[in-house]
Amino acid sequence: MSKAPPRRQRTNFRPLTARQIESLVARHGTPLLVVDCAAIRHQYHALSAALPEVGLFYALKPLPHPDVVATLRDLGSGFDVATAGEIALVRAQGVAPGRCIHTHPIKSDGEIRAALRHGVRRFVADNPDEIRKFEPHRRRAELLLRVSFRNPAAVVDLSRKFGCEPGAVPHLLELARGLGVKVRGLSFHVGSQVADPAKYVEAIDACRELIQAARRERLADLDLLDIGGGFPVPYGERVTPIGAFCRPIRRELATLPPGVRVIAEPGRFIAGPAGTAVASVIGRAQREGRWWYYLDDGLYGSYSGQLFDHARYPIDAIGVRGPRHPSVLAGPTCDSIDVIREDIALPGLNLGDLVVGRTMGAYTAAHATDFNFIPRARIVAVNRRPGRQRAD
Ligand SMILES: *Cc1c(COP(=O)(O)O)cnc(C)c1O
Repeated sequence: MSKAPPRRQRTNFRPLTARQIESLVARHGTPLLVVDCAAIRHQYHALSAALPEVGLFYALKPLPHPDVVATLRDLGSGFDVATAGEIALVRAQGVAPGRCIHTHPIKSDGEIRAALRHGVRRFVADNPDEIRKFEPHRRRAELLLRVSFRNPAAVVDLSRKFGCEPGAVPHLLELARGLGVKVRGLSFHVGSQVADPAKYVEAIDACRELIQAARRERLADLDLLDIGGGFPVPYGERVTPIGAFCRPIRRELATLPPGVRVIAEPGRFIAGPAGTAVASVIGRAQREGRWWYYLDDGLYGSYSGQLFDHARYPIDAIGVRGPRHPSVLAGPTCDSIDVIREDIALPGLNLGDLVVGRTMGAYTAAHATDFNFIPRARIVAVNRRPGRQRAD
């Protein structure tokens, strides 16, 4: 479907320096979310190297940005889309529809028809009603059945809202066969920011048995397994490096029956490290013996991931020296919940000083609001062309 991505290409990704950030702010102002396409390439190659037999489909949801799509398009990546809006975004970047899979387990007839009209043919279903929606489209569409493996340990457990019980798969395959709807394979998504690869290993193991049983019972010849996203990135604390994280997954994939192609839908792993949020101090006050610094970005903006995604980003001021004191960072809205960090050790800041959040590419700007009519951060992509790293 998609051409093989280039493997093991050298990339040169370094975090943006304070000087680079200051010069971007001089041009674009704040609040700003800088997306470093060199980091996108680096992460894509790192995951490709860790899972060399697996086709990667970037899940747009965490950072649906045209320059991210264009960067991944040029690397040969596939795309995981869930809505008509996401399809429009990849189309606008010239991505062939054959490189897209539609992975939303629940969608309206209108969404299905729109996706088919654009040439997207591979979909996900997890229940009888959803399979029946594909009867009129059975000549063009094919399905993956999404199976649920509960993962209470993941920070965000996506296996509660979607996915059928493994035991329901034979029945769903039978139903699809009766309707003439082609089922190509199985998919799962064990959660996001998954700490331990064991859950993937268990899920692959269970899927292998389901695939074997389906072949044995002549229910379907399943030849595609989609292992979802969830690969973790470090938010200041240590996480298992991606090579070591994927080793047991790779070992387990090697036990799949012959002829089963494997794909994955990484989102956060590709986009997270690429984002740097830059905000300015727009006001300050001393309250109860502590400095409160009010920024032009906050929980209703780029830092919304602290609420929706339970993330805690590495944050620091740049270009300021001096002794550090426990301080409070607050967002710009009038809402009292809009506090980014209590008790953060910062040097004394003045109005106009810059505060930078790292690893803020995924699940940040994507769900920012303009509550209180406060504008969202402007997104600026840098290093859009491969090659020597610059910041413009
Ligand atoms: C959100 C989502 C992803 C991406 O998950 P990450 O944890 O960001 O890698 C992949 N697949 C599906 C179906 C999703 O809903």
